[in-house]
Amino acid sequence: MRFRWLLLLPSLLSVFLFSAAAQARELLSWRFDSNQNRLVFTTDVGVQPKAQLIANPSRVVIDLPGISLRRSVTQPQKGGIREIRVGQINAETTRIVVELAPGYTLDPQQVKFRGATPTQWSVDFPTPQRVAPSLLPPGRPPANTPSNDRSSSISIPPLLGLPSPVSNSGQVATIQAVELANNGTQLLIRADRGVRATSTWDPRENAYRITIPSARLADQVRGPQLNASSPLSGVRIRQQDSRTVVLLVQPTTGVQIGELNQLNEQLLALQLQPSRPVIPPIGSINVPPPLRTTPILPPSQTPLPSSLPRVPNGRVVVMVDPGHGGPDPGAIGIGGLQEKGIVMSISQQVASLLEQQGVQAVLTRTGDSDLDLEPRVAMAERMNANLFVSIHANAISMSRPDINGLETYYYSGPSSGRLAKTIHNSILQGVDVQDRGVRTARFYVLRRTSMPSVLIEVGFVTGRDDAVKLSNPTYQNQMAQAIARGILQYLQQNSQTS
Ligand SMILES: [Zn+2]
Repeated sequence: MRFRWLLLLPSLLSVFLFSAAAQARELLSWRFDSNQNRLVFTTDVGVQPKAQLIANPSRVVIDLPGISLRRSVTQPQKGGIREIRVGQINAETTRIVVELAPGYTLDPQQVKFRGATPTQWSVDFPTPQRVAPSLLPPGRPPANTPSNDRSSSISIPPLLGLPSPVSNSGQVATIQAVELANNGTQLLIRADRGVRATSTWDPRENAYRITIPSARLADQVRGPQLNASSPLSGVRIRQQDSRTVVLLVQPTTGVQIGELNQLNEQLLALQLQPSRPVIPPIGSINVPPPLRTTPILPPSQTPLPSSLPRVPNGRVVVMVDPGHGGPDPGAIGIGGLQEKGIVMSISQQVASLLEQQGVQAVLTRTGDSDLDLEPRVAMAERMNANLFVSIHANAISMSRPDINGLETYYYSGPSSGRLAKTIHNSILQGVDVQDRGVRTARFYVLRRTSMPSVLIEVGFVTGRDDAVKLSNPTYQNQMAQAIARGILQYLQQNSQTS
């Protein structure tokens, strides 16, 4: 009998290991309370964060080893903190960056980490202080040269004091060069005018993906010459669509991808970290091990960051459905503007905003993938979603640039009608867009879903006004905020029935 038990053990063990391996090891949630300057985050497995204060621009970088992330988020802030970015920097590290506003700094000794449990952390930041550039503390590296650069002639102006990068809506920049610099510690991307980029670890490509919107690739750009001693094993550069350039950067073993920095409006630098950090920290931040006591910050008591309405307790699932994807670009408008990218950007932000308010938001597609209408509906049904919100952009003939505006559709039922009106009004309040009304239509995703469902046409890619706005990241963010607010208002008002 004993022998039998022993025989059984390995299989039990493998089941256990399998379920452990199936656990995602990811960042489950995070939120930043700007009133208290407190960041709170939760992982599904224990983590020991590492943190540093880094210059140019001044930022606190918090790495979570062994933790992955479902989607990158950039959340603009006010006052001394410019923005919070959450992204994945390699196959197993999630990075949270708290970037200070230009001209601000903080005392790294005053950054206080507290692990209520190994999976639940809070970080209290001191109020950032304004500094005159001449009053920078001694010992800090000169602001205009990378610290361990001994040979390069590349001059890197400080970000301090620079105006924020201009929104380049409508203007397409040309990427003129992609090259290694500073002894292979930076990959520089040069453009002929202001560019912004987003970046994230792409597990499917096993590479770091840099996406540059409103950009075109100059003909001669080939990327850096690589050899066996290069920090990179590959750089793939492609024109994703008529207005988007994508770089896929593969580091060689032992090389860590660092931050993507905006050195000036036209120059981006991806930091490559061989063994020691490229930019020495201004100050190290001590992170104590987690306490193993009861959580001090149960999720229900953590303060909510923004003025978005609270949702009553209970599991609420919202299916957010970005239209089209993959080979189906959706509507194509002025300057080749594509519906699928705009609606993805807005949808991701809606989902992230909802999650920060304690609502489970699930995207029907998470990447630029091809998805029929039927699986979108099936997913919502399988998840028992409480609401289904499909996000699209409209189009009409290219000869009608005069047609612009917002339309919100539902199929039938008082709940869907209320949801449509609530979201529609929230958008009209929060966003500068023409009102083309709440309408009914027999769209598949509206007819076949059993929960309240709406389809939002956020604007016309063929519209003279809308096309410019829709390609602007700030406008996309405003639209996402307004949609999320409408969804939360509806949930709040209808909580007794949901
Ligand atoms: Zn569409």
